[in-house]
Amino acid sequence: MKDAECVFCKIVAGEIPSPKVWQDDACIAIRDIAPQARVHFLVIPRDHYESIAHLPQGSPLFGRLLEAAVGVARQEGLVPGGFRTQINTGRDGGQTVFHTHLHVLKD
Ligand code: AMP
Ligand code: ZN
Repeated sequence: MKDAECVFCKIVAGEIPSPKVWQDDACIAIRDIAPQARVHFLVIPRDHYESIAHLPQGSPLFGRLLEAAVGVARQEGLVPGGFRTQINTGRDGGQTVFHTHLHVLKD
């Protein structure tokens, strides 16, 4: 699933260069272009879903997003110290890029 106009689909496809700090078969992680903390990664599913509210009921991506968040956090030395996660969902949830993603942050 891919949306031709979607910036995160283009990053997943390599059409917009953005170093991938994490990759698995379901998700990638990149550094946020406008970090809101000293450490700020975005975990992005390879498939295009507008938001987590658009994931099919029971989708493995609900779990795979969190697994990838922990994976990139551990890889980047944020475990065991800790980190924050955030998922903005929909216009009223502050979402600005309408391809599901999860923020991993540490001040
Ligand atoms: P949200 O407000 O949850 O939709 O977050 C979207 C995030 O994507 C923001 O923190 C942006 O800074 C980030 N972002 C937008 N375009 C890019 C890009 N090309 N590369 C990396 N991060 C991006
Ligand atoms: Zn997309």
